[in-house]
Amino acid sequence: MSDARVLDGKAVAARVRAEVGEQVARLAARGVRISLHVVLVGDDPASAIYVRNKGRACEEVGIRGVTHPLPAETPEADLLALLDRLNRDPEVDGILVQLPLPPHLRADRVIEAVDPARDVDGFHPANLGRLLSGRPGVVPCTPAGVLRLLDESGVDLKGRRAVVVGRSLIVGKPTAILLLARHATVTVCHSRTLDLAERVREAEVVVAAIGKARMIRGDWVREGAVVVDVGMNRDEAGRLCGDVDFEAARTRASAITPVPGGVGPMTIAFLMRNTLQAACARRGIALD
Ligand code: NAP
Repeated sequence: MSDARVLDGKAVAARVRAEVGEQVARLAARGVRISLHVVLVGDDPASAIYVRNKGRACEEVGIRGVTHPLPAETPEADLLALLDRLNRDPEVDGILVQLPLPPHLRADRVIEAVDPARDVDGFHPANLGRLLSGRPGVVPCTPAGVLRLLDESGVDLKGRRAVVVGRSLIVGKPTAILLLARHATVTVCHSRTLDLAERVREAEVVVAAIGKARMIRGDWVREGAVVVDVGMNRDEAGRLCGDVDFEAARTRASAITPVPGGVGPMTIAFLMRNTLQAACARRGIALD
């Protein structure tokens, strides 16, 4: 029985933010000021917290963070008009629309209205297409953070059997594509997968992005596997927990991410990095 190394997402994210901060400072010394514009529609409390945390991260790395709060009943045309204005503003480097949107707004339509060059979430079909075709571009923040944590674990992904549980456009699918690009042999599981436990047992690398508290049981985890838990759930006692039964899985895995303090902080750190990358690409500045 092993006891897994716990991958400290907070510490790694702090290093990523520090790297971004250094580059932002170097650009500022050349007179280049970078800005991120976050559009928040409605008053979902979780979204408000995420947006506040993004603002704090901007402050820390020296990016100008601007929030555009809009009432929940904002007509789609008004939201699209705001995005159009931001898309045309030469001072705007990154644009992000906080999801989920109120039900009367079509998320697809809204995401497509963001200029791909300023789409720091990497959700625009043009950016997802670049990811799929292996061309350089903005990579969605959470999958980028997952890969960085796998790198921290020291696992060589080439030829490894990786199982991604979840196939959302935001997490599961882009993570699978990034793993494929690193030459892992990737299986993507979802709610219609038969024998999920067996698929997970085969995996040397497990990425869980389901949204169901502790659904991946410890005895599903292969001895020595690396486990990255993207899930953010509340258990029956109201405590934050992941999709993996952490305490049981850590006795079998070689490395595992905790919740909280694993993937969560990485997502915001990579949002900062994506904003820096978009700003440089749009202005024709090479990043060191
Ligand atoms: P999502 O869009 O709801 O997707 C969930 C995926 O899990 C779907 O593909 C679904 O399958 C699959 N699934 C649901 N029940 C399942 C089951 N019983 N067995 C196997 N697969 C099942 O969620 P998401 O946006 O990808 O997010 C997933 C989790 O990650 C959530 O807890 C979310 O809060 C968290 N998250 C965390 C961060 C972070 O920064 N840490 C960022 C984003 C998301 P179908 O496709 O068949 O429905």
